[in-house]
Amino acid sequence: AVNGKKEEEDEKTLRSPICCIMGHVDTGKTKLLDCIRRTNVQEGEAGGITQQIGATYIPAENIRERTKELKADAKLDVPGLLVIDTPGHESFKNLRSRGSGLCDIAILVVDIMHGLEPQTIESINLLRMRNTEFIVALNKVDRLYGWKTCRNAPIGKAMKQQSKDVQLEFDHRVTQIITQFKEQGLNTELYNKNKDRGETYSIVPTSAISGEGIPEMLLLLIQWAQKTMIEKLTYSSEIQCTVLEVKVIEGLGTTIDVVLVNGVLHEGDEIVVCGFQGPIHTTIRSLLTPHPMKELRVKGQYIHYKEIKAAQGIKITAQNLEHAVAGTSLYVVGPDDDVEEIKESVMDDMRNVMSRIDKSGEGVYVQASTLGSLEALLEFLKTPAAYIDNLKEEKKKEAAEDAVFPCVLQIMPNCVFNKKDPIVLGVDVKEGVLKIGTPICIPQRDFIDIGRISSIENNHKPVDYAKKGQKVAIKITGSNAEEQQKMFGRHFEMEDELVSHISRNSIDVLKANYRDELTNEEWKLVVQLKRLFKIQ
Ligand code: GDP
Repeated sequence: AVNGKKEEEDEKTLRSPICCIMGHVDTGKTKLLDCIRRTNVQEGEAGGITQQIGATYIPAENIRERTKELKADAKLDVPGLLVIDTPGHESFKNLRSRGSGLCDIAILVVDIMHGLEPQTIESINLLRMRNTEFIVALNKVDRLYGWKTCRNAPIGKAMKQQSKDVQLEFDHRVTQIITQFKEQGLNTELYNKNKDRGETYSIVPTSAISGEGIPEMLLLLIQWAQKTMIEKLTYSSEIQCTVLEVKVIEGLGTTIDVVLVNGVLHEGDEIVVCGFQGPIHTTIRSLLTPHPMKELRVKGQYIHYKEIKAAQGIKITAQNLEHAVAGTSLYVVGPDDDVEEIKESVMDDMRNVMSRIDKSGEGVYVQASTLGSLEALLEFLKTPAAYIDNLKEEKKKEAAEDAVFPCVLQIMPNCVFNKKDPIVLGVDVKEGVLKIGTPICIPQRDFIDIGRISSIENNHKPVDYAKKGQKVAIKITGSNAEEQQKMFGRHFEMEDELVSHISRNSIDVLKANYRDELTNEEWKLVVQLKRLFKIQ
């Protein structure tokens, strides 16, 4: 019976939810984190908050203390909240475990003065992709004109202290931001009006500077996690652990910083982690967290543990960690486990990302310190590849007007089909490449311009260009209607060579956009014409 009760209790044990802070740059993510950690509140007692590796642990006790004014009678079943120390996309992407997201809940920070910004939308998409629940911290409420500071007060209480003007301004901005969320397909509502928490995300107004709204934010995070994620948060002895960073520490060698989501790690555990050069099979030498007392947190001052239970941020020292890949899962080899099988699964995350790499041998050399950033980099390299191509095409189109391909044409005997309006001639492409749009001039006749090539026909078929040695019919149209139309027999004669009219600008445009499209011989012709036209 005693055992039965113990098991029942174990079943009910919840681990701390893991929380990540997301949002656009400068919305106050770092400040909000400081505020949650109370690192910058001089008078404030840290109250059991412990700095971990890559994360900060806020015990339930601390949350209870900070939310007592809300009289929510918060029944806290979770031991606390583990907040990841690096806000933003990068760490969120790295917080993955066996292919899925590792964050249980996120705070999406939005600046009340700015509304939704590009990275807010990116964050929303990331959160959706990983099915991560979140609440919106509508930060910087103290920036509302006329705001009366109520340090660390619940936002409900603080709002009551504000003037009518501030309240109106606040309502106006909140309404606008709710509309912006709607445009992204998300229903949001102020936390105290939100009756439908399953479908509608809650907005908590906050100030990371003066602390208003932080009590509600903490309470909401915990309540929400406890209400909707019991299964996910039920402690399991199955190890779930992600490598956040690989770091060389003086005196310790290469170490890995991990977030242990579930299970217990012991000193001496046999582990397998993903390595850039294959799976790494090693033994935990030590399990470390920073010393809780700040002033003692100098180099090398870590607490050693024989064992650590989830959820925690831990530094692990072991041999052979040099090539470990951040953003992948750590596995513990149990007595009945097949190491080879584990080695296989350890490389899955990596393979998953690697499978997206084009191994044709062409392209760029990609180097990234974490799997998450490699993933991001690959995404970047993939999408913009199309984007850059488009851009190049766009630029070429724009440049087409100004680009002049070099050519020298000889009029063929008995091939003057029309003397003017337009001039139609049979020509022999003596040098270079003849293209539609090329302005043509007669160097022997004071470089007189006779118009642009408006069409080319080869064997009665229209073509866009003709190469050296080809004999084609061309139509030359005056480029300017007001200008006097030039005429064969008056402005130029049979023996005159027709030459592309190049300029400094046209050469630059050619170099910038069409460098690869010209042969060496054609580039040589550009140089000859440049001399002919006396271009500097
Ligand atoms: P992050 O880029 O999202 O991490 O933003 P930071 O935390 O670095 O904050 C950006 C700037 O906004 C800093 O100058 C902060 O002091 C300021 N800031 C952050 N939160 C608040 C807030 O609630 N109120 C006011 N007035 N300023 C804030």
